[in-house]
Amino acid sequence: MAVLPGLVNAHTHLELSYLRDEVAPASEFVSWIRGVIAARRRRPDPRAPEIMRAIDDALSQAVACGTAVVGDISNTLVTFEPLTRSRLAAVVFYELIRFNAPDPAAFVDEAARDIDALLPTDRVRVSLAAHAPYSVAPLVLRAIRREIDRRPFAPCSVHLSESSEEIEFIRTGRGPWRTLLEDIGAWDPAWQPPGVSPVQFLDESGFLDARVLAVHGVQMTIEDLDRLVARGSTLVTCPRSNGHTGAGAPPIEDFYNYGVNVAIGTDSLASTPDLNVFAELATLRALAPTVSAGALLDSATRQGARALGFDADYGTIEPGKSARLLVVNLPARLDDVEEYLVSGIGPDDIRWLDEL
Ligand SMILES: [Zn+2]
Repeated sequence: MAVLPGLVNAHTHLELSYLRDEVAPASEFVSWIRGVIAARRRRPDPRAPEIMRAIDDALSQAVACGTAVVGDISNTLVTFEPLTRSRLAAVVFYELIRFNAPDPAAFVDEAARDIDALLPTDRVRVSLAAHAPYSVAPLVLRAIRREIDRRPFAPCSVHLSESSEEIEFIRTGRGPWRTLLEDIGAWDPAWQPPGVSPVQFLDESGFLDARVLAVHGVQMTIEDLDRLVARGSTLVTCPRSNGHTGAGAPPIEDFYNYGVNVAIGTDSLASTPDLNVFAELATLRALAPTVSAGALLDSATRQGARALGFDADYGTIEPGKSARLLVVNLPARLDDVEEYLVSGIGPDDIRWLDEL
């Protein structure tokens, strides 16, 4: 058997767990988002029993698949309480979406009050996140960043360079995103397209630094990756979700070759079949055959724990850290243990050392 640190799922949306199998795969990302918006509008109560039940089931599944820590994106904060009851450590990112905001500072102040009303535990913390550069107004982005700067250890998250439609919109102000914003009544006629890549736009807004988890990066150029390296931001890759949503395949070998900090997320059950980080690792292995298995495992453990601010307790096996360690059954004959661990381990072969 192999003993390893509990895995870190650095990007998921537990509150969307009830959307499993509800939003069909798409060939174009904006079509997929339209499907999610329609599905969420069918269930307006964020605490509906089926939503809360799906969160609990997802938490059990994540633990059974060897996850010790999650970065959970939430627009409603309904996942905070179930997480405090689970065995997981977590950062709940209260994610703000507002493209047309009459008073950006008041909007973010109210969100800050909402998260301050929750009592963090040793294992479950709360922070703020911006949804994406195409769905959050520039002044809201700045207000979120200011609020994060007031919280010295809080990580922040943003979906970034996920789809070609995002690149087109931030460069030109046109395309399917513009149409979608107009269709849902969120368009701001005063908004001016930045005319650069989404990464350059966020960087020049002062948004990117070592506390930011930039999620997806499917459409990032080498220049974009260099900026992430210079800022020390962590790129969270979720390749199975990218395949489902029509975003495309992320350039994973470039992420590693250019020295970016890479963590791994499953994204939500709306766009992935399960919350098994080992299954995500197998997809990374298939997309990036030249990256070492050891580097992929490092992303699924140490890098994720560091990005979420949990590296004092998780991510490696060291004296003084939490003993939340996994035991993975290995075949009798095996040449390369690390390679085996990125080949797609299922829950039947996983146990927790402290539950034996
Ligand atoms: Zn996401």
